[in-house]
Amino acid sequence: MVSIPKVGPGAGFSPLPVGPDARVFVLTGAGISAESGIPTFRDANGLWEQHRVEDVATPEGFDRDPALVWRFYSERRRQAAGCLPNAAHLALARFGEALGDRLFLCTQNVDPLHERAGSRGVLHMHGELSSTRCEGCDRPAFHDEALYLEATPRCGCGARLRPGVVWFGEVPLHLPRIFAALSACDVFVTIGSSGAVHPAAGFVTHVRNEPSIRTRRHARTVYVGPERPVNAYAFDEVRLGKAGEIVPGLFAPG
Ligand code: NAD
Repeated sequence: MVSIPKVGPGAGFSPLPVGPDARVFVLTGAGISAESGIPTFRDANGLWEQHRVEDVATPEGFDRDPALVWRFYSERRRQAAGCLPNAAHLALARFGEALGDRLFLCTQNVDPLHERAGSRGVLHMHGELSSTRCEGCDRPAFHDEALYLEATPRCGCGARLRPGVVWFGEVPLHLPRIFAALSACDVFVTIGSSGAVHPAAGFVTHVRNEPSIRTRRHARTVYVGPERPVNAYAFDEVRLGKAGEIVPGLFAPG
């Protein structure tokens, strides 16, 4: 049976109790960075910063016009360099200090705002803006904040360098670690994600269908954001409001 999630008005929700042994999985999406001035993915007519996703966030788009894709990600690098973490990033960093490795913070975002807020060990399942990798050789992805506004950069091996991000049609990073953490959590929270991008959109269903391997109980699942995500039906609770208003009071570590 499909249950209808409870919906409440903005902040003013009760904090989620987090017991001394509890494990918390937090998945963040573009919405958590919106209040820092980084537009979300589907802000304007399904375009990402005035570009079609097919043109700037797929391997096929990179094959068609690598210079355009590099200009796009160079602009994203420049934009992120000027942005500060907001109250939601900062609250998650404080929560991480309290919980240590009992908090698993997984982000779909390629921006560095969780780290800038002080969070450690953030898992970037879609890669990072400040990462570049070679299309042709085994050279590991490397830290790179350069802006490539003209020519497409090349590796020493001669192949093209590409942004170290995961594009549509590519497999996200670290999935075994992610699913291990999903299987062991007691509280699962998604913040600011439309629920349209897979596999992240299916994490809540995994948690809902599989009891925790530690406790044999189902984790409590909560969504935070100003509008209902596509996968709202799968959450126990939807807390409607901006991340910066709700996340600072979201958890009550015991
Ligand atoms: P999305 O753009 O599809 O959805 C954003 C969600 O954030 C929406 O549901 C919206 O209601 C919500 N939102 C808007 N303002 C909010 C606020 N103040 N507080 C909380 N929520 C808010 O985002 P997605 O589901 O993360 O998928 C987008 C994909 O595009 C990701 O894979 C990501 O890699 C990429 N992306 C990343 C960034 C970034 O790194 N900041 C920005 C844009 C896109």
